Amino acid sequence: MNVIVCIKQVPASSNVKIDPVTGVLIRDGLDSKLNPYDLYAIECALQITSATGGLVTAITMGPPAAKTALKEAISMGCNKGVLITDRLFAGADVLATSYTISSGIKQINDIDLIICGKQTTDGDTAQVGPEIAEMLHIPHVSFVNKIISVLQDSITVEYALDHTTETVRIPFPCLITVDKDIYTPRLPSYKRMLAHMNDEIIVLTLQDFTDKDESHYGLKGSPTQVEAMFSPTKNENKVILNGSISELSEKLFFQLKELKVI
Ligand SMILES: Cc1cc2nc3c(=O)[nH]c(=O)nc-3n(C[C@H](O)[C@H](O)[C@H](O)COP(=O)(O)OP(=O)(O)OC[C@H]3O[C@@H](n4cnc5c(N)ncnc54)[C@H](O)[C@@H]3O)c2cc1C
Repeated sequence: MNVIVCIKQVPASSNVKIDPVTGVLIRDGLDSKLNPYDLYAIECALQITSATGGLVTAITMGPPAAKTALKEAISMGCNKGVLITDRLFAGADVLATSYTISSGIKQINDIDLIICGKQTTDGDTAQVGPEIAEMLHIPHVSFVNKIISVLQDSITVEYALDHTTETVRIPFPCLITVDKDIYTPRLPSYKRMLAHMNDEIIVLTLQDFTDKDESHYGLKGSPTQVEAMFSPTKNENKVILNGSISELSEKLFFQLKELKVI
């Protein structure tokens, strides 16, 4: 069984800066860590292949430094790491990111299952997994919190909706995004880290893709552009009203009217 697990490096701190001109995150010089939800995705992939046999390939789209995330995934138990990287991929929005990752996945043969985290802690859209599946024309289920069974041709999973939990069987190849209740992620093994220190990370660039049209990737392939990005400002103005109940009601009425609330 061939399982792909999609992982992303995210800023390790919430103290991030935004480029005032482009409106995108300045990632240079930021400490990074593996997206917490992707640890659950890795653990899920390892649990499945330890029961059925097979290989787990960790894949990430990011700058060359994202190799560290792949090394961590290998230290946890993944068999291979694939880095999708190219200057032309920079500035990608969710659509371009998903298209790029799906183009990379197309270069890997005989995939049964793709596992993504539910969401990231930086972009936080939870859209990349479903969009990858749509681009690969395979079925997908989001917010999976339990693997019920894995057969040769399908997987049965439980996923949470707002008020109900549903169980579905999906045929391979398919994609699932997993929530944090699925399994407890193991720690990276120091022994595995040493043993796999010199393992080659497979690098894919635009030149390796079937679709080499630059306008489909990075900023050029992104229909959404950041207009502005800012931390919400706190309104700490306080007005204290004094008087009897009828005076207070009148004062409050005029205050709200002045503020155009009523
Ligand atoms: C308009 C716009 C412009 C942007 N410009 C930039 C930019 O210039 N530079 C920049 O770095 N980012 C940019 N981003 C952010 C970038 O698009 C997102 O980081 C990316 O689409 C992933 O989305 P997400 O973080 O919301 O992932 P989610 O959908 O929340 O992630 C769900 C899961 O998908 C998988 N996944 C997500 N991203 C990756 C990845 N890169 N590799 C492998 N698996 C992944 C993981 O399993 C993850 O748990 C921009 C976003 C927007 C909307």
